Amino acid sequence: MTASSPEAGALEALIEALKRLPGVGQKSAQRMAYHLLQHDRDGARLMAEALRAAAEGIGHCERCHTFSESALCPVCADPERDARQLCVVETPADQAALERTNSYRGYYFVLLGRVSPLDGVGVQQIGAAELLARASEGGVEEVILASSFTAEGEATAHVLAEALRSRGIRATRLARGVPVGSELEYVDLGTIAHALVDRR
Ligand SMILES: [Zn+2]
Repeated sequence: MTASSPEAGALEALIEALKRLPGVGQKSAQRMAYHLLQHDRDGARLMAEALRAAAEGIGHCERCHTFSESALCPVCADPERDARQLCVVETPADQAALERTNSYRGYYFVLLGRVSPLDGVGVQQIGAAELLARASEGGVEEVILASSFTAEGEATAHVLAEALRSRGIRATRLARGVPVGSELEYVDLGTIAHALVDRR
């Protein structure tokens, strides 16, 4: 019996749905489900509405691919940003983390993935061709590769840097203030800001 089958009870379906969240196992999911039903039905309804609105209303910015409710995200729609810099990140969460540092005024390109040879994910699958086209547009003087400092993030930065440099585009990498093996999303803002300033 699966969560979506009509025979599954509503409580089981809720627990199964909660288990889809990262880091949430059977016990945590049960605790959340019982909490909502016992103490916070309004919260449960609010959550259901927010989830539906987000799942149906949020798409991708057609220019940088981050999450956006309109064709262009607020950053891409802002003519005051510095068009000479293009920062490449792996995920919309990474883009949001960089934005929160308030230390970067250029535009972004969100890969929506990273190179992972073991999973058969190459540069083609993460939008490299589109990135090269975007970086070749007039005005871009530097592409800052801000993929994670994991093995896959490093591999991603490496192949993209080679592709960019072979086209005469300057590519820099975030400096190593960021701990090895870390997801950018979880790095503190000061470290990210420092790494951004010290990029090579
Ligand atoms: Zn955008």
